[in-house]
Amino acid sequence: MKYKNRVRSRISNLKDPKNPGLRKNVLAGSIELSRIATMSAEEMASDELKQLRNVLTQEAIREHQMAKTGGTTTDLLQCGKCKKKNCTYNQVQTRSADEPMTTFVLCNECGNRWKFC
Ligand SMILES: [Zn+2]
Repeated sequence: MKYKNRVRSRISNLKDPKNPGLRKNVLAGSIELSRIATMSAEEMASDELKQLRNVLTQEAIREHQMAKTGGTTTDLLQCGKCKKKNCTYNQVQTRSADEPMTTFVLCNECGNRWKFC
């Protein structure tokens, strides 16, 4: 009876939409099912949290770089996501000097980023 309850709580963990990585790991066989029964909630969340922390750090770095390079504010470009015309653009020479510049646009309203040529 006790074991049955335990299994049920594991199953609800696997169905947790906030933890798709766990289910993926299980389906991919990278976590043995027998191990799940002995895993703590922290252990189950750790991979997911680690990943999230990585993403957030990268995002912060990118944000910082964007702020550092500045860019030009314009109302001539329209955001495809929120349709507002409050954007900042940066022109970057991606390859050789005789090739046209690539324009990176950042929407100041919703943070949407895209490449404009
Ligand atoms: Zn936008």
